[in-house]
Amino acid sequence: MKKFWKCKICGDIHYGNAGPEVCPTCGVKNAYVETSKPEAKKSMGI
Ligand SMILES: [Zn+2]
Repeated sequence: MKKFWKCKICGDIHYGNAGPEVCPTCGVKNAYVETSKPEAKKSMGI
């Protein structure tokens, strides 16, 4: 099941089975933490 992941450094949102190893936005490794759909939407401003 896919989940929402949020970079704890820059707040980037990723949707998938796992968070990216390296954040494409800020370049930090292992910065993604699992987040809820409402939290993800809030972070994306929608
Ligand atoms: Zn980031």
